[in-house]
Amino acid sequence: MRIFDPHIHMSSRTTDDYERMAAAGVRAVVEPAFWLGQPRTGPGSFTDYFDSLVGWEPFRAAQFGIRHHATIALNPKEANDPRCRPVLDLLPRYLEKDGVVAVGEVGYDAMTPEEDEVFAAQLALAIEHGLPALVHTPHRDKERGAERSLAVVAESGIDPGRVALDHLNEVTVAGAREAGVWLGFSIYPDTKMSPDRMVAILRRFGLERVLVNSAADWGRSDPLLTRWTAEAMLTDGFTADDVDRVMWRNPVEFYGQSGRLDLSETGSADATFAGNSILRGGS
Ligand SMILES: [Zn+2]
Repeated sequence: MRIFDPHIHMSSRTTDDYERMAAAGVRAVVEPAFWLGQPRTGPGSFTDYFDSLVGWEPFRAAQFGIRHHATIALNPKEANDPRCRPVLDLLPRYLEKDGVVAVGEVGYDAMTPEEDEVFAAQLALAIEHGLPALVHTPHRDKERGAERSLAVVAESGIDPGRVALDHLNEVTVAGAREAGVWLGFSIYPDTKMSPDRMVAILRRFGLERVLVNSAADWGRSDPLLTRWTAEAMLTDGFTADDVDRVMWRNPVEFYGQSGRLDLSETGSADATFAGNSILRGGS
């Protein structure tokens, strides 16, 4: 079984996770830029983070035979902090980089006017750079957040087929499907979507334009939940080809729209990273 996790924050995970993921069939991941759990104090903090998402983290993943790509953006939460706003001017430089396959995570956190502005500006950047967009829906007031996100997407003029609306559930899936965007679902260990609830959604709405991710970060989460969802699909009677479509071909199709997806073998044995000697102490 081959698995592509289209939304996972590997910089908050250990090499043990990479090892378990590789053993479970994960061959590719996309790591969206997001907040750090505590507020950043300025744009320099973003550039160091973005550099690690396009440099160090792909190297770490390659050691386990996993292809790593990133999405870059000013996240919705920090869109409200005036100290972070200048990072918008730095984004174009990153959106040209090879390993960057979308603009994201963009969208809403608390649905403030500042978030409106930053969300729209970054959808415009996605259009300008010919990239898809990964849109996060808020965890509070999700229904209104999803509706409003779809309205902003429609207004931006971006092709809905180049947008994934993420963290959907039973309540928000129908509206997103109608709007023609890709449907992202994050599977969590004890809250929100579970593998069984995901399988029920696949039965009801079909496999088309569905993306299943673990959204694992430093909170309670599990990078193997893509695999457990695949197992739940098989138990429910979906075929191995159905599983391959949801867990591999769909994310390849979505992020492939960037023209930058590299799914060749990683050559993990002789992977080299330019910054490695510096990180080891500078020999
Ligand atoms: Zn995320």
